[in-house]
Amino acid sequence: MHLQQRPVIVMICVEEAQKRILDSVRPLGVETVNLLDAMGRVIGEDVHAGRAIPAWDNSAMDGYALRAVDTAGASPQHPVYLEVIETIPAGSVPSKRIGPGQAARIMTGAPMPEGADAVVMLEDCHQDAGRVAILVEAVDGRHIRRMGDDVPLGEEILSRGDTIRPADIGLLASLGRSTVPVHRRPLVAVVATGSELTEIDEAPSPGKIVGSNRYTLAALVGECGAIPLLLGIAQDRREDLAAAFRNAMQADLIVSAGGVSGGDFDLVKDIMQAEGNRLFFWQVAMKPGKPLAFGALGEVPIVGLPGNPASSMVCFEQFVRPAILKMLGHGNFFRRTVLARLSEGIEKKRGFRHFVPAQLRRDADGCIVAMAGKLGAGMIKSMVRANGLIIIPEETEAVGAGETVTVQVLDDSLDRCPEPGY
Ligand code: AMP
Ligand code: MG
Repeated sequence: MHLQQRPVIVMICVEEAQKRILDSVRPLGVETVNLLDAMGRVIGEDVHAGRAIPAWDNSAMDGYALRAVDTAGASPQHPVYLEVIETIPAGSVPSKRIGPGQAARIMTGAPMPEGADAVVMLEDCHQDAGRVAILVEAVDGRHIRRMGDDVPLGEEILSRGDTIRPADIGLLASLGRSTVPVHRRPLVAVVATGSELTEIDEAPSPGKIVGSNRYTLAALVGECGAIPLLLGIAQDRREDLAAAFRNAMQADLIVSAGGVSGGDFDLVKDIMQAEGNRLFFWQVAMKPGKPLAFGALGEVPIVGLPGNPASSMVCFEQFVRPAILKMLGHGNFFRRTVLARLSEGIEKKRGFRHFVPAQLRRDADGCIVAMAGKLGAGMIKSMVRANGLIIIPEETEAVGAGETVTVQVLDDSLDRCPEPGY
């Protein structure tokens, strides 16, 4: 943890808030996991090839291993006849040396016999009892996969910070690596606060709602590759919230939802400010999400998200996801953005960056984007329908239909679009 920040209790911009949060976290330590469990994880050490691939010269074709010089002038009209001295299937080792006028029938992947310097593929040969008719001139080195051609011994094949993909798993397996050093996955505690919140399986009594944010946030944490620790609902009471936060301090990062605005019962930042705890900033110039708070409980960073469902999701995307990706060892912390034509006008308040839940799709002229539903921080359905967020800059007051806007892509499958094709 690197939590030496000075508190700022004035509203800051999105980049400054991201910078402050990212500066507070570091990639977690390295652990060794089984090869398949390394999929999608970030490698924690450079990996060098402990073997050459291929480990020996071998045939790239089913055919005949021979000496190219012996096939000079060969053609379908004037074949060259060679003595076939053995057959070398894949998985076996040649037992004989190829001498002048000789060949070995060889299968793809089998080691080249000594003395041979080329392979002629089966289609260009005609076997006849103990000899073979070669119908083309062989070229020296043709159809031979040389030792180390693919991966030379000692080559750096994966670098610290690389995210492991299926091809990497295959390469590591080829090199005999059954375990892999990867950055540890952060344990991220999720706390919800609100005296109106009930558990998922309780029927909400008057004035109460299901505390859904815990589930959304835990799902987002898991989607990032971290481990969610779903903690209970804290009432808007100091002792209750403090106890929930104490419990959350077992995690690498704490995410809370609710209780960060300026209301009478918004206690999250008070607890960050209380003795031994720290509030590093409160309020970001964005909508939704303005009351976001960031601080630390002991050495554990805590992001206090607003409780409105869409706000908490939008803020998670901008601030928590990048922090988790950094802790996981990734180098790219941000979702990609695309430019798209807006299909309807949007008005907004100057001074705040707006993140508008949106449906992005592709048409013949490029990307086109529309609002995913009614605007409003509490609108969970717009986030359900959205596959992106339109980002409208602070200084802009309105964007018109047909104008180009930047869209943060949330879902690359993009299957929530009304029309397919993106
Ligand atoms: P707050 O940020 O605590 O002022 O909450 C803002 C709005 O979000 C209120 O209407 C809350 O009832 C609602 N809210 C807070 N926490 C949750 C939650 N965990 N799930 C769903 N809605 C919530
Ligand atoms: Mg509340």
